[in-house]
Amino acid sequence: TGSTRPQRLLRAVQKNATQGDPQSVINAIDHFCRHKEWAMNVGDEKGSILDSVVSEVNPSTALELGTYCGYSTVRIARLLPPGSQLITLEFNPAYAAVAKQVIGWAGLQDKVQLVEGPSGDLIPQMKDLFGVQSFDFVFLDHWKDRYLPDAKLLEECSLLRKGSVLLADNVICPGTPEYLEYIRNSPRYESRYFKSHLEYTKVEDGLEKSVFLG
Ligand code: SAM
Ligand code: MG
Repeated sequence: TGSTRPQRLLRAVQKNATQGDPQSVINAIDHFCRHKEWAMNVGDEKGSILDSVVSEVNPSTALELGTYCGYSTVRIARLLPPGSQLITLEFNPAYAAVAKQVIGWAGLQDKVQLVEGPSGDLIPQMKDLFGVQSFDFVFLDHWKDRYLPDAKLLEECSLLRKGSVLLADNVICPGTPEYLEYIRNSPRYESRYFKSHLEYTKVEDGLEKSVFLG
């Protein structure tokens, strides 16, 4: 048909989810990915761990690395307290275009700033572009070889404060060995693994939650 998977995912949202109802958007995407086409969203099982970490941190400023179709963006943004902002970075324009519509369908456009470009270029511009002092919460879910350089970049740019929480997806599958080695052994973090499964499968995967100690 010439359509792409993200476009088909978007159509499933428009057909099956209620505008302004984030949970129905999440359900429509999970249903599409379980029963029609697998896609690289954090998914429902790891998503409930993501939800509990976001709720516990209750961030006023949050950063997401890797938007894809906006599934995790919707999950995070729906839990943010009033006045909070989620900045999400995506370097693929076709994915960003779909995500914009998914976020809009959920009614969360006022809480989310979707920025198109590579994380390595954008992270150093966060203060200038958005006036953020630091991020309370960062979700790492972009290409796996960028987790470590971008975590170090966040440190160098003073975008982490004492108590900031990094939550990294896919630390087992596909895996992020250099990131895990760094974050678990650095005295600047307190880190813990949450065991789960790769989205929409029974393969082991999990999330690593790391609190920046300053
Ligand atoms: N967080 C999304 C979710 O759970 O719904 C899934 C994100 S997907 C696993 C990873 C995304 O990161 C892809 O859409 C890819 O284009 C994007 N990406 C990878 N490296 C990036 C980078 N350095 N800067 C910005 N986006 C990046
Ligand atoms: Mg992921």
